[in-house]
Amino acid sequence: MSNSTGLGYTPASALYANTDFSKLSWLETQWAAWYLWIDNPVIATGLMSFLLHEIVYFGRCIPWILIDATPYFRKWKLQPTKIPTAREQWECTKQVLFSHFTIELPAIWLFHPFAELFGLSTWQVPFPDWQTVAMQVAFFFVFEDGFHFFAHRALHWGPLYKHIHKIHHKYAAPFGLAAEYAHPAEVFILGTGTLGGPILYTSLFHNLHIFTVYVWIVLRLFQAVDSHSGYDFPWSLQHIVPFWSGADHHDFHHMAFVNNFSTSFRWFDHFFGTDDKYREYKAKVNAAKASGLSPKELAALELRIAQQAEKEGVEAEKVVEAYNFKLKTA
Ligand SMILES: [Zn+2]
Ligand SMILES: [Zn+2]
Repeated sequence: MSNSTGLGYTPASALYANTDFSKLSWLETQWAAWYLWIDNPVIATGLMSFLLHEIVYFGRCIPWILIDATPYFRKWKLQPTKIPTAREQWECTKQVLFSHFTIELPAIWLFHPFAELFGLSTWQVPFPDWQTVAMQVAFFFVFEDGFHFFAHRALHWGPLYKHIHKIHHKYAAPFGLAAEYAHPAEVFILGTGTLGGPILYTSLFHNLHIFTVYVWIVLRLFQAVDSHSGYDFPWSLQHIVPFWSGADHHDFHHMAFVNNFSTSFRWFDHFFGTDDKYREYKAKVNAAKASGLSPKELAALELRIAQQAEKEGVEAEKVVEAYNFKLKTA
């Protein structure tokens, strides 16, 4: 945004000089009011982005914390013997908050000038129509999933795993708060998949509003937290949309260390064959369920199947970590 005020930015009052407020929706009016109140678009965008991220991330974690504290929901827990303790959840929260304030806050603060450079609309009202928003968000979902699949596979390469991605694999039975529990370099690498779609889109088409990016970020945060929740309910999205990954898919990645590298969709792992162990595991669990055992016997058998997959995962992790050692001694 060019300016001639000498302030280094154009005050919001000047930005909205030609806006007809009577034609705006309630949300668009609130949007403009926020920019008018802060009166500095750089700070207004930075602050809104940071608050949105914090509120949605921790807000989405709260139901999962309550579900973990309620034994009634245990029957839908993917690894029912592994319930995160309050202490584990608090340790994880502190670490995630530390990374939010040290890495994400500065990154978000730099986002407005960076975004405007690529032609992203921020303070502008009205918002794009919902069809445009839906189409763009769908593109971001597909782009992120593909990016994440390859970047995540690279993070399982010995040196990158040992020095970066191992932190995220601390929890073999993840919980919502663990979604962003990761090395700063991983936050940066995988965050590129989340923001890369919007940056690519706006640099190609110059037709993207930050409101659409916020819709995407909110859905992506829900996806990330929910896929780490550790619960697979009969009403979970993957039972309605069969190519949706969900917690069932990603929980296996944490438990068995191998397979299931993508985020939102199942098709990349399916196409590249990186879901073979997962499908084998699901087949064993389904066969156990169909074998007419008593609930107690079935629970014991399911536990043994899971423990076997986890044991193989521990061995697979050792092999990955040993790669670094081999490099040094070769
Ligand atoms: Zn991983
Ligand atoms: Zn994970």
